[in-house]
Amino acid sequence: MQKEKVDVLVIGAGPAGCIAGSIINKQGFNVKVVEKEKFPRFVIGESLLPRVMDHLEEAGFMDAIKSAGFQRKNGAKFVRGNEVCDFNFSDQFSKGWNWTWQVPRAEFDQILSKTLASMGVDVEHETAVKNIEFSGTNSLTTVTDKTGKEKQIEARFIVDASGYGRVIPRMFNLDKPSNFEPRKTHFTHFKDLKRPEGTDGNRITVVVHQPRTWIWIIPFSNGITSVGFVADPEFYTGISEDPVERMRSIIAKDPITKERFSDAEMMFQPKSIEGYAISTKQLYGDGFVLCGNATEFLDPIFSSGVTFAMESGNKAGKLVCDTLNGKEVNWPKQYTDHMMQGINTFRSYVAAWYSGDLYDIFFSENPDPEIKKQICSVLAGYVWDLENPFVKKHDKAIASLAKMIRHRKVHH
Ligand code: FAD
Repeated sequence: MQKEKVDVLVIGAGPAGCIAGSIINKQGFNVKVVEKEKFPRFVIGESLLPRVMDHLEEAGFMDAIKSAGFQRKNGAKFVRGNEVCDFNFSDQFSKGWNWTWQVPRAEFDQILSKTLASMGVDVEHETAVKNIEFSGTNSLTTVTDKTGKEKQIEARFIVDASGYGRVIPRMFNLDKPSNFEPRKTHFTHFKDLKRPEGTDGNRITVVVHQPRTWIWIIPFSNGITSVGFVADPEFYTGISEDPVERMRSIIAKDPITKERFSDAEMMFQPKSIEGYAISTKQLYGDGFVLCGNATEFLDPIFSSGVTFAMESGNKAGKLVCDTLNGKEVNWPKQYTDHMMQGINTFRSYVAAWYSGDLYDIFFSENPDPEIKKQICSVLAGYVWDLENPFVKKHDKAIASLAKMIRHRKVHH
């Protein structure tokens, strides 16, 4: 069997894998990426957070992505009936980027993968990992290439950035259930011929359809808009099983989205995904590190997925290089604690969204502008800024603010 030898093998050419691949390549190591799919390929996760801009820049992808002309995203808008809560990334507490993009991922990920290859990294598409054997920190990975032929790749370290494929967690029994209840999403892309004129029509909007059920509206610069429902699985009971009819019927019941999308053309048959929240027992091990969706996925509500993918790709890439350079690396502290700081901050916000605490905060009258800025920085992905009390005390700050707002309402 054909055998290749590399310093680092990266599994998956999504955002986590491309960022890690570039960071490792910049330090002069021989890195190879294997990717199961031929790109462009569809993946959900289209709304970015400003924090990703730091990573695109550091890893050398910014110019290529900029030239694609994606829809600029300056903030996020939440709507419940007549109530509107607007976050503008210019009004935030943390120092950082105040804008980002809304992207069709097929195109976005293809640019990342091509740009990585243009940096001299061997990115092999249509090549899937089938088996991995570790001996100490070294590994021997068996892959099947596009001709169906098996070959082996010997590596000193593996970065598992296989996203929903979760190659190492599945192979080595590292999956752990999420502490969130399973939810179900139903989504498609619409030809958005009734997009409102001006900036409002191009903005990402989150619509509260009913408590615990919400809709994302993510307009792209190509005239297509991504629309998806997220709900408890029971929400869909009794609604047509046919994906197109199901989409038409749930949209028809939503006063805010029905006018724009009820008879809009769908670009593909709507897809459903259920129970996507998942966790893992560990984030690294001897000779491997897990990144992006191969670690923990919380929930789509605050668009944190690609941010975590890139943050972990960047961090893992650097720590892998340090390890290969023989430097002392404290993986629990430098990797697990760092990633969990961000993940746990968003965990509190996701929990507070579904408990209703964040509805009370977002839709309250006369919100405190300082607090709003602090929350805005969380929504921009700056969840490692411990100067921000809504990051540092994420578990308590939201609950006590919501309580105070409810108290104020009762006494007025
Ligand atoms: P991926 O983008 O999934 O890339 C992993 C790659 O690995 C894939 O290309 C795959 O083909 C490849 N692979 C898998 N198995 C193998 C194998 N055996 N061998 C070789 N290659 C393999 N995130 C956001 O930031 N914003 C959003 O608005 C958002 N919305 C979401 C909505 C929903 C309903 C859901 C479920 C998620 C959403 N996410 C969102 C999350 C987002 O989809 C992921 O967090 C993000 O794509 C993770 O990137 P990644 O690089 O880890 O993995």
